[in-house]
Amino acid sequence: MIESASFTAAEERALRDAYARGEAANCPRCDVALRHREIGGGSFGLGYSRRREWLLCPSCKRSVLFDAQRGTRT
Ligand SMILES: [Zn+2]
Repeated sequence: MIESASFTAAEERALRDAYARGEAANCPRCDVALRHREIGGGSFGLGYSRRREWLLCPSCKRSVLFDAQRGTRT
């Protein structure tokens, strides 16, 4: 079931926390840096105005997608 591989909920939460702190998010299984992409409104064809963050492991292909919630509001 490689195609359905994903992080566990606990792993996803740890990655979100690390990313929210501005730390490098590493894959807990491969110990390699996750690739980061920002999915902006319009560029993904979904009409979202909210930015989303996507972290993808280049090794095991697991990924985690979540809403950007960085403390940058003024
Ligand atoms: Zn991995």
